[in-house]
Amino acid sequence: MITQSALVSFDRLETPFYYYDMDVLRSTVDNFSSTLRKYGITAHYAVKANSNDRILQTISGAGLQAECATGNEISLAIANGFPPEGIFFDGVAKTDREIVNALKAGIQCFNCESIQELEVIDALAGGLGLKADVAIRVNPDIDAHTHKYITTGTEEDKFGISTWAFDDVFAALSRCHNLQFRGIHMHAGSQITDMNVYAMLCKRAAEFEKIFSEHGYDVQILNLGGGLGVDYEKPLENWMPDIEGLCRTISENLPLKPGQTVHIEPGRALVAECGHIISRVIYVKKGLKKQFAILDCGLHTLIRPALYQAVHQVENLSCKAPVEKYDVVGNVCESSDVFAKDLEGGAPHRGDFFAIHSAGAYGQVMNMKYLQRELAPAVYSDDLK
Ligand SMILES: *Cc1c(COP(=O)(O)O)cnc(C)c1O
Repeated sequence: MITQSALVSFDRLETPFYYYDMDVLRSTVDNFSSTLRKYGITAHYAVKANSNDRILQTISGAGLQAECATGNEISLAIANGFPPEGIFFDGVAKTDREIVNALKAGIQCFNCESIQELEVIDALAGGLGLKADVAIRVNPDIDAHTHKYITTGTEEDKFGISTWAFDDVFAALSRCHNLQFRGIHMHAGSQITDMNVYAMLCKRAAEFEKIFSEHGYDVQILNLGGGLGVDYEKPLENWMPDIEGLCRTISENLPLKPGQTVHIEPGRALVAECGHIISRVIYVKKGLKKQFAILDCGLHTLIRPALYQAVHQVENLSCKAPVEKYDVVGNVCESSDVFAKDLEGGAPHRGDFFAIHSAGAYGQVMNMKYLQRELAPAVYSDDLK
C-alpha cells in the first residue's frame, strides 16, 4: 500500500530503504490479537522475522508474547516491551551464556531440541539455584509442502526430537531435577497456507500429548510453532493472513484438557506485508531479446529470491504505461540476483522507483554489507505524514 503522497516523499530520500506501512502492521496485529483472544490461543511473535524496535513495540503493545532464537533477541524483545515471562526460547544451538542469561531474565520456557541440551540447561539452572521450565520440541514428521529449505518438520531435519528418542527424553527428564517439564513444541516449517497441514499438526500434538501423559508428564503447553503463510503472489489485494482459519483449525482439531494452553509462534504472517523495499532504477539495459531494469538494491537487501527462489511482487511505482516485458535484477555480481523474470509492468526508466512487496519478514534482518555497500535504513509511514 504505497500511497501517492508516500511516493512524493520518497523523492527526497536516498534509496534503497525498507518502507514500513505502519497502518498495515497495526491492522494485522490488531486482527491477530482479537482473533486469538476469541479462540483463547496465545501467540509468541518470532522476533527473527523482523526485530526493528518500532515493529517490536507495535506487536508487544498489542499484548502478544515473543519467541526468540538467540540471547540477543531475548534482550531486544524485553527492551521493547515483551514481558520475560511470556518468552519462548528456541534454537538448536543455545550457548551456555545464552541459557544463563535467559534463566536470569526469567523467561517462560526453553524449547529443547536434544537430550544433551536438556542436561546442559539442568546443570546451568542447578548452578544458579533455579528451576528451568522446558518444553520438548518434537519432530512432527510431516511435510509442510513448502520449499525444501524452509521445511523443518520431517524425520530427517536437524530440528526437534523424534518419537524414537522419547524414552531417552523421559529418562533425561527424570534424572534432571532442575528441569520442570511444561509441554511440547512443534514447528512444521514456514509459509504454510494449507490448513490441512495445521490440522495434521494438531493430530500429532494430541498423539504426543497422550504419550507424555501416559508417562506421567503433565502437558500444560501445546505449542504448534510458527509458519502461517502470506500471499506473496497478490500482496496488495490479500494482505491479511488467515489467522482466523488457523485458529479455527486448531480449535476444531486439538482437544484440550483443563489447565492446557495452546500457543503459536507466527513470524512472517505478522510482518511480511507491511514491508516494501523501495529502490531506484540505476540503468535500463536493452539486449537483443531481453530488457533489464537494474536496481540499486540486491540480494544483500533481500536474500529470499536468491536463497530459495522466493517470489516477490515487483512494481514500477513511477510509470504504469506503456506496459513492457523485462527482468528486474539487483546490483550484485551473482546470476541469482534476480527479483523478477519477464515482468509485465510499466516501462522502466533510469531513476524510476520500484517496490519489492512483502519484504517485511526475513528482509531487513538479513541485510548485509556485502561489497561494502551501506546497510539500507528503515523508513516508517508514520514519519511521512
Ligand atoms: C522461524 C520460526 C518461527 C517463525 O516462523 P514463520 O514462518 O516466520 O512464522 C516460529 N518458531 C520457530 C521454532 C521458528 O524456527
